[in-house]
Amino acid sequence: MALIDCPGCGKRVSDVTRICPHCGLHRGEVSDEQMHEFQRRRLRDRVYHLKMASYAIMTLFLAAFGWYWWESGDFQQAPSAGPMGLIVLAAIAYLVNRFLLFRARRQMRRLMS
Ligand SMILES: [Zn+2]
Repeated sequence: MALIDCPGCGKRVSDVTRICPHCGLHRGEVSDEQMHEFQRRRLRDRVYHLKMASYAIMTLFLAAFGWYWWESGDFQQAPSAGPMGLIVLAAIAYLVNRFLLFRARRQMRRLMS
């Protein structure tokens, strides 16, 4: 028994397992075409989840901004570290999300060409 890379998800799986426990791919009976379709679907799901995450991040950003506004009394006083930290956190999460989305879309384009 050895460990091999699953062709569907790239994770390490046992070579005696016929169905990948990570992504559910059946090994051995997959044609190139099916593999292509499988990867396309996996990327499409990833793009979908990243988009959902980006909406959550934007909501978080708006909430943090509202908190900032509320605490600073219409931006009259400096706010505490709480809303500032949350705004920075949301901004970083947004950038990471954009990067992952960009990468997933590029992989998708490469797969389709
Ligand atoms: Zn897999």
